[in-house]
Amino acid sequence: MTGPGERVTVPVPILLYHSVSDTPSSFISPYAVTPATFARHLDVIAESGAATLTVSDLRSALASGTALPQRPVLVTFDDGYLDTLTTAAPLLAERAMAMTAYVISGAVGGVSPGGDPMMSWSQIGELAGSGAEIGGHSHTHPELDTVPAHRVRDEVAVCKDRLEQQTGQQVRSFAYPHGYSSPRTRRVVEQAGYSSACSVKNALSSPLDPPYAISRLMVMATTSDETIRGWVAGNGAPVGQDEERLLTRGWRAWRRIGVRWGRTPHWAHAC
Ligand SMILES: [Zn+2]
Repeated sequence: MTGPGERVTVPVPILLYHSVSDTPSSFISPYAVTPATFARHLDVIAESGAATLTVSDLRSALASGTALPQRPVLVTFDDGYLDTLTTAAPLLAERAMAMTAYVISGAVGGVSPGGDPMMSWSQIGELAGSGAEIGGHSHTHPELDTVPAHRVRDEVAVCKDRLEQQTGQQVRSFAYPHGYSSPRTRRVVEQAGYSSACSVKNALSSPLDPPYAISRLMVMATTSDETIRGWVAGNGAPVGQDEERLLTRGWRAWRRIGVRWGRTPHWAHAC
């Protein structure tokens, strides 16, 4: 285990997956990996000697001062694709690895805009019952930093309520749709009772990450095994970012203009 003095510098790779499928729709295919690829990634994690944790286990350990495993790696899924349960979860279970699945509550039992099947409520219950952490990913997947405050509150609270009612478990972690958040969004998520929230940032996380702006690394269809190997070893990406990059802020302003033009933010944008 790592001593308290060293703990703050440990980079924590938090991998973000969407679909794990040989037959993803064109909507999600840039963000999908095949089952064979996913299994190879898990083997890279196992071979590195890393220990997997859920996001809430990581945050609880940090909050309580419990020592982290020497090499923590987190595996997360966004949106709630059916293959998270049917394909990814068994491959993780074979290796006794933990996962956190962030679910769009309003998409449960339906299909993605590309037609990919999403988990039903009973399937989400099955996943939760297997030990996976279920987190919130909003109700309809809008870009939360560009919609009115009352809608942000609804998206965040309705998602938490529905998931908790259906799973009977407390939903403690949130992931911002598309990875986008703002100081206001982060406050709303905290006020709704979540104890952590993940963004994307394409950076390694660290114990210094703000609890409502946890960095993740998005795994794309084009992400190479060597990239995964580097991330798992704590290399190949910046470590955390306390402040948003100017680029991110500029991109948000551009998207606000898009909204004024009448472009409705909806979950038709992947990730
Ligand atoms: Zn998403």
